[in-house]
Amino acid sequence: MRTVILSRRVVLGPAAPSEGKTSLRLVGAAVVLEGTTIRSVHELSDGTPFVPEAGDTVIDFGDKLLAPAFINPHTHLALGFLRGLDMRGVARGNMVEEFFFKVERRVSPEDIRAFVRIGAYDSLLAGVGLVWDHYYAGEQVAEGLCDVGLAGVVAPTLQDLSGPGMDAWEAQLDATARIDDSQRFRDQGVLAALGPHATDTVSAELFGKALDVAQARQLPVHAHLAQSVEEYRRARQRHGTTPTEWLERIGVLERAPSSVFAHCIYVDRQDLGRLAKSRSAGVYCPYSQLVFGFPAPASEWTRAGLSWGVATDCASNNDTMNVQKELRFAAGHRTVGTTWSHEFERFLAGDAEASEATWRRRTELCELNEQDAAPAALLSRVWSEPGKWHPKVRVGVIEPGALANLLVFDLAHPALWPAHDPLQAIAMADTGPAIWAMFVAGKCIGVPGAFHESLVRSETYRDAHREARDRLAKLDLSV
Ligand SMILES: [Zn+2]
Repeated sequence: MRTVILSRRVVLGPAAPSEGKTSLRLVGAAVVLEGTTIRSVHELSDGTPFVPEAGDTVIDFGDKLLAPAFINPHTHLALGFLRGLDMRGVARGNMVEEFFFKVERRVSPEDIRAFVRIGAYDSLLAGVGLVWDHYYAGEQVAEGLCDVGLAGVVAPTLQDLSGPGMDAWEAQLDATARIDDSQRFRDQGVLAALGPHATDTVSAELFGKALDVAQARQLPVHAHLAQSVEEYRRARQRHGTTPTEWLERIGVLERAPSSVFAHCIYVDRQDLGRLAKSRSAGVYCPYSQLVFGFPAPASEWTRAGLSWGVATDCASNNDTMNVQKELRFAAGHRTVGTTWSHEFERFLAGDAEASEATWRRRTELCELNEQDAAPAALLSRVWSEPGKWHPKVRVGVIEPGALANLLVFDLAHPALWPAHDPLQAIAMADTGPAIWAMFVAGKCIGVPGAFHESLVRSETYRDAHREARDRLAKLDLSV
């Protein structure tokens, strides 16, 4: 059973920011879906019509733009139950240890599944087709994704030194293997990753056990890295080195089939070199980092040659699952440093001459970060870059063999009109309302042309909301 999708504007070709060029093209094409994947792509640039096979379901989207669905490469969907709390108090210190760990001890596996469903709907509505989720009770996360129809790479959280999961690491290691073995999950685009939590909550022994599984099953490692000054301090005290160099020393950088490291705030240039020369990638979560820490220097990652993507982290400190909106912050690297430059500080102190030096600083920053702000480079952070990190799946591109995760945008929608350069508009505008249709792992999500209403008004969403609301009402959120 095949589905043929026709459009006169299909986004083909991966962006290649590392090669200093953009290679995305907009062409007329027929995209053939079979099962969970894209079977073939037929360019129709010479006007030749595509001839479907008998039994094919054909959907012609005309002038609407067909693009890869977005990838959110680091999140904890279940933590959406904390959205809307004022985080300023708990974010003064270590928010993860002083707030999350305390509240998370009261959350049951059934609660996690119920909260994941809401986060999964939130993701779909923003055009996210695949998430890299890292959380306790990993199988419940995977079930919650399947309940709603969102694809994902699920990393059951592993901890043995501290944290709410420290007594459950063996069970979660087994759960990782079961997720990887499940054909039912694979049919929904749900895969596994190893999820050691961070360098200060996981011992070298447990990292070693996780690596054994990662190597045997060809799974990625998904961990937090150097996200707090406490984690950095502990690495220096316990191991006499940095968190990143410790990972190198215990073999993670060499042995993991691939590694995905969230945040990487306290990673200096030497450590960036360590990550760049291994099969590692960095995840930049600017809006979350603005709350719990401060934004990582992602433009340094580009210069170090590190593959990196952009993610939301959790809704509790973001407060959205719309990963595409984070791209505007990445584009702003061209100018934002000017505000906190020495030159502008001199100007603020009354040195009128410093106005010229300030603008020169701004011009230098623009030139330094110009390439990262190109539309195809920005889009690569939520399409082709994270789409190549899992050894068992290719996603974020429209090409044969890739997971069939697709978005159809209505360029006539006021949120995108007139979209002179559609890729620029998709990178920088608020694209969510302009989604016309969506496919995840080959399945159509909602009703084309009534995408958002069909999800939010569905019986399944109402049931999911009711259960999450009732479970939340019974949770104690005090610390
Ligand atoms: Zn995180």
